[in-house]
Amino acid sequence: MTKMERIDPWSSQVIEDYEHIFKEFGLMEWTPEWNKELKHYLFERGIIIAHRDFEKVLKRIKEKKPFINITGIASSGRMHLGHKVDIDLFVHFKKFGGKNYFAVSDLDAYCSRDKIITLDEAKGFAVKNLAHALALGLDEKDVYVQSRKETRYYEFTFELSKKITNNEFEAVYGHVNLGKISAALLQYADILHPQLKEFEGKMPSITGIGLDQDPHARLTRDVAQRLQYELEIPSFIYFKHQSGLKEGTKMSSSDPYSAIYLDDELKDAERKIQNALTGGRNTLEEQKRLGGKPEKCKVFEILKFHYPENKGLERVFNECTQGKWLCGNCKKFTAEFICKFLKEHQEKVKQKEKIARKIVLGK
Ligand code: SF4
Repeated sequence: MTKMERIDPWSSQVIEDYEHIFKEFGLMEWTPEWNKELKHYLFERGIIIAHRDFEKVLKRIKEKKPFINITGIASSGRMHLGHKVDIDLFVHFKKFGGKNYFAVSDLDAYCSRDKIITLDEAKGFAVKNLAHALALGLDEKDVYVQSRKETRYYEFTFELSKKITNNEFEAVYGHVNLGKISAALLQYADILHPQLKEFEGKMPSITGIGLDQDPHARLTRDVAQRLQYELEIPSFIYFKHQSGLKEGTKMSSSDPYSAIYLDDELKDAERKIQNALTGGRNTLEEQKRLGGKPEKCKVFEILKFHYPENKGLERVFNECTQGKWLCGNCKKFTAEFICKFLKEHQEKVKQKEKIARKIVLGK
């Protein structure tokens, strides 16, 4: 099996051959017509690229009927700008009447990440990351913490464990590692448990994930059909990951120079933007004559993923490609935008720390 024929959701593999992945795993390409209904720049800018059964959720949205809106964050490291997409999508689907379930995945992080040695460490990250998520627009009533979830969730996780064989795990993930199996079972339970009668009951659900998380989505959908409960097969939408600031990298919690972290000091964030790979030409003369290449530029990518105004983004794109807007100015503009966002965000985080602590640790 080649590298691209199996995706490892725990690796830092950078997925570039999207078409191959679509074909290999049967993902459906995103339908741009739906963007009119969904009204968010993440859809309009081609950041959402694929789906599984999104039509079911769209129908509920059009009919103004409820659906389950479920996602989560693994508490395995500092949060960076790349994680914000997940939360932005969740917050957006709330507006369409979603029944909201946001998992703070402390147990998942502890079980699946070798670098997390103790459960307390995972809970420490959970407190910090939840404060960030709340500051980004989550409501405390949307949230649950895996380690503090009710018994029914755990019963259900064990029920799921009997519906998947070792061979299936190995075929999908390429290994059978007890910690990762435990983490994967918790993830399936996160997505499916809201449909149990003790929670919302059977209804379509939506989860936004990066393409690298598709193995979890495939097994969740399979196992949903093997249970003794009547469940809707869950729907997923897939976003492109914001890439790292250096060439060929993914924004990673373990590489401080690959990403802008939500708790970065402003001067560090600014320095990272100044040092990011651009799509600029070798000389000023060439840049003015030929224009830059925003599609290859990490600075433009930051704006594409986070700058909310379409007109402003279009202006940067046009002026860059026409050689009217130079990289120095562009980096300054982007650094000012990101630093303003970080400053406001970090103030909100301070106000959310106490409640995040209470939710995760109960004190
Ligand atoms: Fe990137 Fe901006 Fe330079 Fe264009 S002008 S290549 S978008 S940094």
